[in-house]
Amino acid sequence: MMSAVRASLRSRFQGCLVGGVIGDCVGAPFEVTGSGGSPRYVRKFAEKIPSVPPGSLQFTDDTAMARSITASLIQHNGEYKPMDMAKRFASEYSKEPGRGYGGNVIDVFAALGDDKLKDAYEPAKKQFGGSGSYGNGGAMRVAPVGLCMEERFIQMIEIAKSSAQITHSNALGYNGAILQACAVHLALHADPKTFCRCTYVDKLIGIMSSQEKKDPDDNLKGAKRARMTFMGKEMSDDEVSDDESGGPETQGVYCHKLRVLKNGMVLTRGERDDLYGMTFMGKEMSDDEVSDEESGGPETQGVYCHKLRVLKKFLEKADNGTDVRMDDVVEHLGNRISAHYSVPTAIYCFLNAMHPMNDFPDYNAFQRTILYAIALDGDTDTIASMAGAIAGAYYGIEAIPKPWITACEGAEDALKKADDLYSIMVNTETSKEGAATSDEEK
Ligand SMILES: [Mg+2]
Repeated sequence: MMSAVRASLRSRFQGCLVGGVIGDCVGAPFEVTGSGGSPRYVRKFAEKIPSVPPGSLQFTDDTAMARSITASLIQHNGEYKPMDMAKRFASEYSKEPGRGYGGNVIDVFAALGDDKLKDAYEPAKKQFGGSGSYGNGGAMRVAPVGLCMEERFIQMIEIAKSSAQITHSNALGYNGAILQACAVHLALHADPKTFCRCTYVDKLIGIMSSQEKKDPDDNLKGAKRARMTFMGKEMSDDEVSDDESGGPETQGVYCHKLRVLKNGMVLTRGERDDLYGMTFMGKEMSDDEVSDEESGGPETQGVYCHKLRVLKKFLEKADNGTDVRMDDVVEHLGNRISAHYSVPTAIYCFLNAMHPMNDFPDYNAFQRTILYAIALDGDTDTIASMAGAIAGAYYGIEAIPKPWITACEGAEDALKKADDLYSIMVNTETSKEGAATSDEEK
């Protein structure tokens, strides 16, 4: 009995790390081409996966950084060593800089790689005029941290937060990593026989509610500083692509920035917030989002709690037979590079894909998770990678078709590392329990 339970947990460790790689590799071509958003096109691509040359779907920064986290944890017997992790990020980047890293994090890598570095968290704190980044880089790589025994839950949250802070010091950035690690962890230990999607989301809301209360000032100050930065000269390319207005003039970055400047002066504060997706502060949500919101308690001021509630509404709508449109998912949950516009989306992809989908009738739930995430367009590799890691932790390696593993670069390596991490986590817990063998009767 004991060995059956452990075999299944081992399979879930494997499913998680391999699932993350597959989401990254399958999602990456869509991010480059911008051809997500059409389920038909995604289906056509998926049909070809079994016949592509082995390893020809290449991984990007998501996998490169997740591998560094896994390797660091394995090297130190499951212990978190910030300086080692920071050095691994930097050296992985310098070995293969062409893996699609975000432009801003490169400055952090340069500082992390410096021999004189004393504090692994210092370089990230200086980003964006001191507000730090709230991109999804901390969350996209955090799945291995979620792979641990339930007894280690509190410690896991701390590691998720700290490992994210090496590059993402804004509360929105590291809270996104906490949410993603918890989503993986709860999926890992969930019993499919009794699993309830809404209960799963409620648990995540409970966790994020206490996390977001810990640093409300940080959230607020960080967002205000970031807003000021947006209005100024530090808008990244990715944020430019967030601009929704069409027209040829928006294609030029200087025109775009001048428009931003102009808009900043003539729009009301509420309109500006809306323009930049800064509506997460709770009290300044758009009408649509407010109507999605059930209650206005103090905890709704946290963006992640708010998004998880919206997500739950979508699930309830679907359960009642109402179609939830992809456009609505993108509008309310997001498909961007910022953590709060992508982590809740990834969780939704996993939960939504549990049921059959008309768009992807010939694929299992793990595959549907990946394909649906890509069809949402936007930051396809990262959202599919995060969703794939959660789905893999839930369904196990058996749900991932062999040809998909073969097609994706780095998937075999993830399989091996998952085994090593599993051995460490199981043995660490067993040795800690020591003489408390009577518990095993349970
Ligand atoms: Mg990537």
